[in-house]
Amino acid sequence: MANVDQVVSLYREPLENFPLELAADWKKRHPGKKVVGCYPVYSPVELIHAAGMLPVGVIGGGNRLEIANADSRFQSFVCSIVKSTLELGLTERLKFLDGIVFHSICDPARNLGSVFKRNFPDLMVEYIHFPQNMASPHTIDYLIAEYKRLNVSYEQLSGKKITDDALRESITLYNTQRRLVRELYTIRRETPHNLSTLECYVLTRIGTILPPEEHISILREAIPELRQRNEKPKDRIRVVLEGSFCEQPPIELLEGLEAAGCYILDDDFLIGWRWFPEDISTDGDPLRNIANAYLNHSEYSGVKHDTREQKSNHLLDKFKNTGATAVLILAAKFCEPALFDYALYKRALEKEGIPHLCLEFEEKMWIFDKARTEVETFVESMLFD
Ligand code: SF4
Repeated sequence: MANVDQVVSLYREPLENFPLELAADWKKRHPGKKVVGCYPVYSPVELIHAAGMLPVGVIGGGNRLEIANADSRFQSFVCSIVKSTLELGLTERLKFLDGIVFHSICDPARNLGSVFKRNFPDLMVEYIHFPQNMASPHTIDYLIAEYKRLNVSYEQLSGKKITDDALRESITLYNTQRRLVRELYTIRRETPHNLSTLECYVLTRIGTILPPEEHISILREAIPELRQRNEKPKDRIRVVLEGSFCEQPPIELLEGLEAAGCYILDDDFLIGWRWFPEDISTDGDPLRNIANAYLNHSEYSGVKHDTREQKSNHLLDKFKNTGATAVLILAAKFCEPALFDYALYKRALEKEGIPHLCLEFEEKMWIFDKARTEVETFVESMLFD
């Protein structure tokens, strides 16, 4: 498929309605193939793929999903993605999944894994305990053991042995996908007038649902086209956006942020699917390489407990390296990791005199006027200062 406009108009609607319908359709067209859902933030998708299954992002229900059943299983002060994911399950929209994996990112996600296990006994529910101590010399062996445990489940589910060669092939494939997404982000960072955040988001998000080969071929056509674009830059401020690493903001909100006067040079949307800023090595033991990449060469995140470095320094580096003039914190309502991080970021940004604005969003958000007005006021305060 050519043309970025066509790709965006083809996929925007399904992404806003029910993103996983694309994966359910794929499964109908590929009977006998198995699909494993990956809850945010990061899952080692290579393990699933090397077992001959399709990993897909289960990243909430979007803002059109009515929450009618999940409220009775969770308290009201919980982020939307937890409830919408459960609602998808309870309304049988996840029936096409053969398995799903959760991780130790926060208490609500931990609980969601258990709730899934109890409510959907036919679904293989896995849970990865990511290390809480990244500095210990034993951590890498711990994580490899965790991945080996997962491989046993995936081999049972798929009926296929996960060989080192298959893992290396999957690493190579996902390296290519991640490299192309990085290229997309480079284009937006360098020429944000040529690639809107909406386009960048849709082009990235479809990679969480389509088979990687299909996504790679879409990006291989889109990137040269984007490099040819020559749009006129608008009078907007340049920002780095942080805080949307798990639950995703509604697409209309993203559009509204740009329309309110921001060029978003970098963000952490879908960060788990862009988790490695460089390729994972394919030399030697592939499981060790995947574990080592997680521990030593992955993106910083509010859900990765890395005491070796300060997250706020990463944000400051990002701010400086992109040439941004402000920071926009866009955090999901009730997301503890994002809101805890905000306290650290706020202190660091104020110390450096960096203008910033913090907004909260919900998956099920319909009215964007308030957010838009806040951003417009912020932009005006910077443009006409
Ligand atoms: S949005 Fe935040 S609180 Fe909710 S599951 Fe994700 S990380 Fe946890």
